[in-house]
Amino acid sequence: MVDKVFIESANMKNINKGIKKDLRQHAAEVAEAMKKLYPKPKTELVYANEMQLAIAVMLSAQTTDKKVNEITAALFKKYLTWDDFAIASLPTLQRDIRGVNFHLGKASRIIKASVIVRDKFGGHLPRTMDELLLLPGVARKTANVILQELWDITEGIVVDTHVTRISSRLGLSNEKNAVKIEQELMSLFDKKYWRGISGAFVLHGRHVCKARKPECEKCVLKDICPSAFLEN
Ligand code: SF4
Repeated sequence: MVDKVFIESANMKNINKGIKKDLRQHAAEVAEAMKKLYPKPKTELVYANEMQLAIAVMLSAQTTDKKVNEITAALFKKYLTWDDFAIASLPTLQRDIRGVNFHLGKASRIIKASVIVRDKFGGHLPRTMDELLLLPGVARKTANVILQELWDITEGIVVDTHVTRISSRLGLSNEKNAVKIEQELMSLFDKKYWRGISGAFVLHGRHVCKARKPECEKCVLKDICPSAFLEN
């Protein structure tokens, strides 16, 4: 349980700031600042329908959205339906997505997932977390993105590499496992922030709180971030 843990004991390298307050209060301040800066964060993946979003998110693990968009521009002209992916030849699909990382395994999982969507769900993505998790290649992160982007259903918090890094720097979670990080963040943030916070963290991670050199000077969180200027 993290809700009664004080920031001071969570990720406190920057103790000189003397920050000491309840983590939930800290999380609320972070969420409000992020909401002001990124009022309506949306995925940067390009898609025209539910199938395209699902495939794009499955391809995006360990790969930038920009690279995925380059690949899917041609892919979605060739594969128009779930059935097109379900009957695809594995070597051909592997070749068609070879620009993304781990393309061999991703191609195999996309074909298997497409067969399940076609045969078990009548050619439509299911709308619950439990059912989406039945699809190979779909873990909680992908399922959360699909539910939130397509149908405004919020069941959890999307945790990717940016969310993981920023949560750690802000002292919100020191876990390494995405499921555990999601659980901790869900216990810290009021549910009304769940959808927006991950999208905001992703954009903040890309443009300000970068992996190698966070730009703390221009960061709106610098006065409440325990890691501010530690890596500059
Ligand atoms: S102050 Fe620096 S380390 Fe903290 S969130 Fe902002 S950019 Fe990241």
